[in-house]
Amino acid sequence: LAIQNRANHRCEYCRMHQSLQGATFHIEHIVPKSRGGLSTLENLAWCFPSCNLHKADRSDVVDPDSKNLVPIFHPRRDEWKDHFRWNGYQLRGRTPSGRATILALKLNNDRRILIRRAEERFDVFPPA
Ligand SMILES: [Zn+2]
Repeated sequence: LAIQNRANHRCEYCRMHQSLQGATFHIEHIVPKSRGGLSTLENLAWCFPSCNLHKADRSDVVDPDSKNLVPIFHPRRDEWKDHFRWNGYQLRGRTPSGRATILALKLNNDRRILIRRAEERFDVFPPA
């Protein structure tokens, strides 16, 4: 519950609000367990299931512009607004990590756009 409240009930990667989602959000290991990540409050994030699934056990992902491997967005270490911005219903990366995270977690797929349109009707999009 502390994790959920800290996240304001939104996925810490894509900012999706849990209220319109039938699926329960996941508690995600920012540094994956397989890479030594601990189950401490500091290393846990509130996460939409699809984001968690696509992130899997990765810590680094490919920036589509430079093709370099860059760190995936880190909800504790990084400031969300430094890495991402909204362009209508689309999420845009401000940094290599932002761009790479959007690509890796498929944050602009058709279903995400539909969800953001629905969220707008319920006044939970764009996130404050
Ligand atoms: Zn998400």
